[in-house]
Amino acid sequence: MTATGEAGGRPVTSAVATKSGGEAAGRHSTIASFGTSHGVLCVGGVPLGLLAERVGETPFFAYDRQLLAARVARLRSALPASVELSYAIKANPMPAVIHHLSGLVDAFDVASGLELRAALDTTMPPAQVSFAGPGKSLAELRQAVAAGVTVELESPAEARRLAAIGEELAIRPRAAIRVNPDFAIKGSGMRMGGGPQQFGVDAEDVPQLLKSLAETDVEVLGFHVFAGSQNLHADVLAQAQRETVDLVLRLAPAAPAPIRYLNLGGGFGIPYYEKDAPLDLEAVGAALGGLIAERIEPGLPGARVVIELGRYIVGECGVYVTRIVDRKHSRGRVFLVTDGGLHHQLAASGNFGQVVRRNYPVALGTKMDAESTETVSVVGKLCTPLDLLADRVQLPPAEVGDLVVIFQAGAYGRSASPEAFLSHPPAPEVLV
Ligand SMILES: *Cc1c(COP(=O)(O)O)cnc(C)c1O
Repeated sequence: MTATGEAGGRPVTSAVATKSGGEAAGRHSTIASFGTSHGVLCVGGVPLGLLAERVGETPFFAYDRQLLAARVARLRSALPASVELSYAIKANPMPAVIHHLSGLVDAFDVASGLELRAALDTTMPPAQVSFAGPGKSLAELRQAVAAGVTVELESPAEARRLAAIGEELAIRPRAAIRVNPDFAIKGSGMRMGGGPQQFGVDAEDVPQLLKSLAETDVEVLGFHVFAGSQNLHADVLAQAQRETVDLVLRLAPAAPAPIRYLNLGGGFGIPYYEKDAPLDLEAVGAALGGLIAERIEPGLPGARVVIELGRYIVGECGVYVTRIVDRKHSRGRVFLVTDGGLHHQLAASGNFGQVVRRNYPVALGTKMDAESTETVSVVGKLCTPLDLLADRVQLPPAEVGDLVVIFQAGAYGRSASPEAFLSHPPAPEVLV
């Protein structure tokens, strides 16, 4: 009997630590869906202690197969049926995760030659794979052309290289233009469009690029606009999608052929911090439905509409699990020293693009039912004060051997951390 999902018993949010003196936890609604069994957090229905035995070591990352499927199902029910869902592999490139998702989403977005190979190892058809990112090497472009994936062009020079490779391989390259829009979206954790950018071709330069592409044998399928990442505001995302469609409708007449591909980006955020409210996905879906009916279907008939997401699909479906190896008192503060650290889960330490260090949701996975009566700091084993996984949080009294769980670790965890720093072993990953 699985303990995962709503049926798995009481919500566990009450046991998730809050900053001492902070407001009650409970905002992190999806954390509850991991479920517990006899006071122990479960991933994929397996209690954490047993899972640690199964993995054979701590620390480790664990991803929940059913939660991933539920997440995609939730996206499907909120977004218009005609929208294609693309998974941005860079958020979590674990092969088992990609394989699982290949049966659930419609497309993959890759950002390197190795991610491309990983995508091609699945059942995803190459025509449903797009390759974005500045500075693609000649070798990567050749891989993309040979595989028949869509290259999202980031510059005129890249377009010329792609055309030359197509001639050399006698294969017609498939391409879309990544456009750096003439607007910026507010409230994103990371802005990746608007103003001067290393990403995409400035909107005002796109007509000229389309003209020169018309003289080559590159098949121009359409456009890709990715304005930013980690946005929790439905109205801002809807506004960005509207402006993106307006922009594409202005650019489309300059294209050599009707637009068949419109990648609206994504940027759907997940709540990491106490005061983050989850994104209103239904509102995003409703606005997109209106946009498709009123603007896209009449203006770009037959175009595939793609939403491309990384963290929204995987972020909340994974945890980073460490074991407490020491308990220290230092001048009035309690430090729980774990066998993990920022070399595995950099983002939880606040050093992956955060402006102000705030705590990720954290819990004592082996004592989910116990009352949080102690204020502690959870640290890793690296010799740097940056290696702070949770700063002065309320947790149940913890002992050496207990397992600390850091949530929201399914995206930008292992692969976005400086694994080689201090030469400790990497953390294994499991999909349960
Ligand atoms: C990183 C990236 C994504 C994924 O961003 P998330 O915030 O994880 O959803 C999507 N598209 C492109 C082009 C990216 O570079």
